[in-house]
Amino acid sequence: MAGPVEPQSRTGTVRRGRITVQYERATLRHEDARSFAALAAEGLRELERLAGRPARTRLRFELRAATRISTARGRTILLSTHRVASRSAPYLHEIAHTLLPCRYAPAWFSEGLACYLESHMSECGCGYDSRLFTEHGNRGVDADAARWLAEARGQKVLPYVGTRGTPPGIVADRHNVAAPFYVLSHSLMKFLADQAGLPAVIRLAGSRNFSPALRRVTGKSAPSWRSLWLDHLALDGAQSSSSRNTFGG
Ligand SMILES: [Zn+2]
Repeated sequence: MAGPVEPQSRTGTVRRGRITVQYERATLRHEDARSFAALAAEGLRELERLAGRPARTRLRFELRAATRISTARGRTILLSTHRVASRSAPYLHEIAHTLLPCRYAPAWFSEGLACYLESHMSECGCGYDSRLFTEHGNRGVDADAARWLAEARGQKVLPYVGTRGTPPGIVADRHNVAAPFYVLSHSLMKFLADQAGLPAVIRLAGSRNFSPALRRVTGKSAPSWRSLWLDHLALDGAQSSSSRNTFGG
């Protein structure tokens, strides 16, 4: 008589260094789970180095076919199996959230930093960029941001970028709300990291009093950075449209 299927037989587990990957056997091959664990172990090591954190974090990834939005809770990261199989999972983004939790920083800073670090790592040859909302990572994020700002959906989330809070509908409407919010936050973070340096940005991630810390560490307030960034995008856009005509497509 066949009994009920044991949960263990439906899921497999792979360990690599300080990474544990649990996956559903029906939706992912063992070798894909193994190569993902290797990528995640490398990403964790490199992000710890970049963030100046000791190399001792243990992370658990749970890969699920039904997962739609990736999340990090404590040391557990939930990812879509399909995205892992197609190498478009935001695993570096989620590792960045776990290493640099930004508990007191505004959402634009926390999400912008995770997006920025994901692109930065992949552009340095470590793993891949999920490109969830950008087309060409850090290199193309300003052009993506300028495109969003040229339309109503970008303008609608702009009041939340460089300030506090998250736009209504950010979880329910990934396409029209989360996408512009993440891209604009990523672009502002790139501007801040380019101008003030990545070490300064990483120091800010852990600060309890974000606004005074931003002024102290970078010499400027959030409204100043925001307005300089918008000027920079406008200038970039004017130059691009006159020399390369890249907008509008
Ligand atoms: Zn995030």
